[in-house]
Amino acid sequence: MTRLNRNERLADSGEKYVKLRSLLQHLIDIGHPYAARMAERGLRPEHLGNREDLASFPTTTKYDLLSGYPFGWFAREKRDIVRIHATSGATGKPALIAYTADDVRMWSENMAWCMGLSGVCENDVVQVSYGYGLFTGGFGVHDGAGVLGAMVVPISGGFTDRQIAIMKDIGATVLACTPSYALRIAENLEGRDTDGIKLRLGFFGAEAWSDELRAFLERALGIKALDMYGLGEAMGPGVSAECLEQNGLHISDDFIAEVVDPATLERVDDGEEGELVLTSWNRQAFPVIRYRTRDLASLLTEPCPCGEPTPRMSRVRGRSDDMLIFRGINVFPKQIEAAILGVSGLTANFRITVCKTRGLQDLSIVCERSAESKPEDIDAMTRALKKSISNSTGASIPFEIAEPGSVPRLDGKSSRILKK
Ligand SMILES: [Zn+2]
Repeated sequence: MTRLNRNERLADSGEKYVKLRSLLQHLIDIGHPYAARMAERGLRPEHLGNREDLASFPTTTKYDLLSGYPFGWFAREKRDIVRIHATSGATGKPALIAYTADDVRMWSENMAWCMGLSGVCENDVVQVSYGYGLFTGGFGVHDGAGVLGAMVVPISGGFTDRQIAIMKDIGATVLACTPSYALRIAENLEGRDTDGIKLRLGFFGAEAWSDELRAFLERALGIKALDMYGLGEAMGPGVSAECLEQNGLHISDDFIAEVVDPATLERVDDGEEGELVLTSWNRQAFPVIRYRTRDLASLLTEPCPCGEPTPRMSRVRGRSDDMLIFRGINVFPKQIEAAILGVSGLTANFRITVCKTRGLQDLSIVCERSAESKPEDIDAMTRALKKSISNSTGASIPFEIAEPGSVPRLDGKSSRILKK
């Protein structure tokens, strides 16, 4: 594939930085907002020769991108742009993300590379249950699976009964969606006839999810569940993905990844957790230079047994802006998910309520017991969950175990956190 040739060509060649310098010059020529940020620090494209130099360049944030709404951060004329997507989850106006025809091709190739790491090929039937539309999930998987020659089922999210019927009838082998939607599909299948389900792989991303949820999804759906990472600002899904080894996500060669301390913005050592910062040297319409993803992860440098030579990142532990504070302890929703799934008889559906008590952040959790559990087991589950939450988070967060099916289900990319 062309993609592998490019990897070989770019290995240690510094060509990435040649391209990055000409990109920065282009940003100066068109009066792009990033050029002004460089000028404030007296930086010119020639100051960027290697990865070390990159650390002195300014970071960009989602706030920067939002401030340029709608077209302020576009780096190409509107006539060159063939696709628009938008960031999700923010309040108010989204940040619009632009793609030239080459950008769409590069994105599709990246997605094909990510899915190819685990052997997706023309024999596969890929059910794309990510949302389509301005969100990048649906189209990203769709185009990548198309490059691999797989049969693509662009079903989008929702209508879970129909999803399952089509999944069986058409013999889908790969499911791609958010982990919370995969959970919903898995729950709908519980106690039902699973004849005809031929799934072997799941690509789940757009949210941080725990190893415990992975184990549940693998068991319930009979699949290998793989983490896939990306974000609209940087392209969409396809920035990195796990191979079948499931020991970190291989990072696409089209991105330079750094991990910084979110408070000081200093780079941290490989293996140390911090905020992931991404630079795209190969995007035309919407390049990002040192974009602060807010996602907390670490860089892994030891070689992967699969033989793919790209650097890897850990799975994302949470977002720095998803971090909750309870009695001075940092808590992530993913840790709570792991704690709940560590107790038998509880489902993976839960909700965290955040409120302020006398100016301090206070948390409470509502989870639910499964339909198979017995009401007389609630006392034992309560004791086990108390211990499990304390082990997982280091905090004694109050919780309630509700009746089966009473916690609202999530469709697609929505939040488990309720702020009051
Ligand atoms: Zn690997």
